[in-house]
Amino acid sequence: MTIAPGYAYEKAPDQDHFLSRQKTIELFRQVLAPIATKRGKRWVFNQSPLYLKFLMGEIDYECTPWGSPNYNIFGWQKPCYMFSDGYAQTFREYMETTDWEKYGRRSGNSKCQDCMMHCGHEPTAAIDATSSLKNMLISIRGLG
Ligand code: SF4
Repeated sequence: MTIAPGYAYEKAPDQDHFLSRQKTIELFRQVLAPIATKRGKRWVFNQSPLYLKFLMGEIDYECTPWGSPNYNIFGWQKPCYMFSDGYAQTFREYMETTDWEKYGRRSGNSKCQDCMMHCGHEPTAAIDATSSLKNMLISIRGLG
């Protein structure tokens, strides 16, 4: 099982009922607490424990949009599958012509402010998994 929070992405027909980033963190703290504290039902998620910690607000990750790119009949979608700023016909073109500085929360892009989607943030967690012995142990051991 995998999980990711929705948010009011650009094309969502209902912009009023998605959670803000802070509300998302509060919700995931409740959902994942039984795993983290080894109490109650232990859901098994096929995801990076570091990404789950990010959802709980314990780690602040920036997005890595090229970490799980979207390819469809129009080509490689820039920058991610949540919204499109155009398409590239090859992966090289996608990587080399996308202005990556314009995306992710720290860029200030309004479309990215409430996004905590796995497509952009789980690749960051995967990269971070080998950045220290502690993170390697968390990745092996899991959230609990
Ligand atoms: S934060 Fe990343 S995954 Fe989310 S909308 Fe922005 S570029 Fe896409």
